[in-house]
Amino acid sequence: MATKRRHIVIVGGGFGGIATANSLKNTDADVTIIDKYNHHLFQPLLYLVATASLSPGDIAAPIRAILGKNSKINVIMEEVKAIRAEENTLLLSDGRLIAFDQLVLAIGAQYNYFGHEEWAEYAPGLKSISDALKIREKILLSMEEAEQVQDVILRKPLLTYAIIGGGPTGVEMAGAIAEIAKSSIMNGYRNINPKDIDIYLIEAGPRILNAFPESLGEAAKNMLIKLGVKVLLNTPVTKIEKDTVHINTESIKASNIIWAAGIKAPKLLNTLDVEQDRVGRILVNPNLSIPKYPNIFVIGDSAHLEDKKGIPLPALAPVATQQGKFLGKLLAESHLTGSDRHVFKYLDKGTMATIGRAKAVADIRGLKFSGIFAWFLWSFIHILSLIGFRNRARVFVEWIWNFFTFKRGVRLITDRSGYEDSNTHGESATKSVEYHT
Ligand SMILES: Cc1cc2nc3c(=O)[nH]c(=O)nc-3n(C[C@H](O)[C@H](O)[C@H](O)COP(=O)(O)OP(=O)(O)OC[C@H]3O[C@@H](n4cnc5c(N)ncnc54)[C@H](O)[C@@H]3O)c2cc1C
Repeated sequence: MATKRRHIVIVGGGFGGIATANSLKNTDADVTIIDKYNHHLFQPLLYLVATASLSPGDIAAPIRAILGKNSKINVIMEEVKAIRAEENTLLLSDGRLIAFDQLVLAIGAQYNYFGHEEWAEYAPGLKSISDALKIREKILLSMEEAEQVQDVILRKPLLTYAIIGGGPTGVEMAGAIAEIAKSSIMNGYRNINPKDIDIYLIEAGPRILNAFPESLGEAAKNMLIKLGVKVLLNTPVTKIEKDTVHINTESIKASNIIWAAGIKAPKLLNTLDVEQDRVGRILVNPNLSIPKYPNIFVIGDSAHLEDKKGIPLPALAPVATQQGKFLGKLLAESHLTGSDRHVFKYLDKGTMATIGRAKAVADIRGLKFSGIFAWFLWSFIHILSLIGFRNRARVFVEWIWNFFTFKRGVRLITDRSGYEDSNTHGESATKSVEYHT
């Protein structure tokens, strides 16, 4: 009698999910990967889409195309709504139930507004392609409007950018916007004086890049200040309203407010009745399974696993990728479930962040670099990490072009609907504000 084949289901086609699926190529099990989008996204370069340097297609690839050569893997584009761990099934948003023998949850993280979800409307985070495109549209549209508005008081917020959170994403966004302000793009705007552009990087803690050694945080801060960014430290945001960030007793009027402060685990994990940390990540065993359910594994940004010093592993792409590779091998080998014979060990190869064009900081196994050398290192590693030869080649060419010309290739405004609704000045301003001709 034929025995039923094992069914391994992976939720999430991000760094962890794709690495798991790729390591399961030669397994005897049936494998299904489910993602709410049809593409894998290289999030570390999203800020370059938001700041009009790269196109979405440069940093994303269809999951089907990535796994296409492996006929064993079934791809489903659908959102998972609930995990029914006792029944070994998943509920999809279209009402379907998917049964699994082993489940890998690699569903990443989402932005944490620390109990102020209402701020998300006015200070979007950068997590998906659609987030990046919305931010890009808003940046470009507010420049177009600033070009037309004569009144300096009304024009000021249109040329002000407030980025909240001094981690790598905030630093990279602030640096990239500062580069735009300095670049030849501004020659195309006759009425905007680049000196009128204000960029704030607002950080609640005493330093930026707090996951990096202090000297690199300081170097990054100095590079940003040189680019004209106002770095506000020890400055918690108290409230965000439409086009206004409140800090202490002051407020900053800015048409472009971007949230890059902290992450939390997706709500889907709450449907498992298991131990979670303060930001909702699941506490996992050293082999990445959940103590209560040995056939369910959590990896990447959704998992809480501590290193030898008791510090949770950081929410970084290499952590998710290494965990995916480890788990793929573990699951491919046998029917092991809760075995503690295998223990995941993270190999920290270093961390990097870039600050505008040709500047970066890097901490590679205790060796600290800053400036142009760190930027070349950052560029090289990021190009190599992109999936697909076509993407690598295109990003390489774009970077060479940007490096020598200071030009931004993707300055198209394609969707005005969202902007008109949320426009700073609204209808009345359109009627009453004096415009340049
Ligand atoms: C703007 C930005 C910049 C970053 N820069 C860096 C960097 O420079 N270096 C670095 O190492 N890391 C960086 N990171 C962090 C890095 O991207 C994450 O650590 C990494 O993506 C985590 O991998 P993951 O597999 O856990 O999740 P992800 O890669 O986020 O993948 C999660 C997947 O799950 C899918 N999903 C989620 N919920 C559901 C559901 N309910 N149903 C179906 N599918 C679902 C999502 O669509 C997504 O495809 C950055 C992140 C961001 C947002």
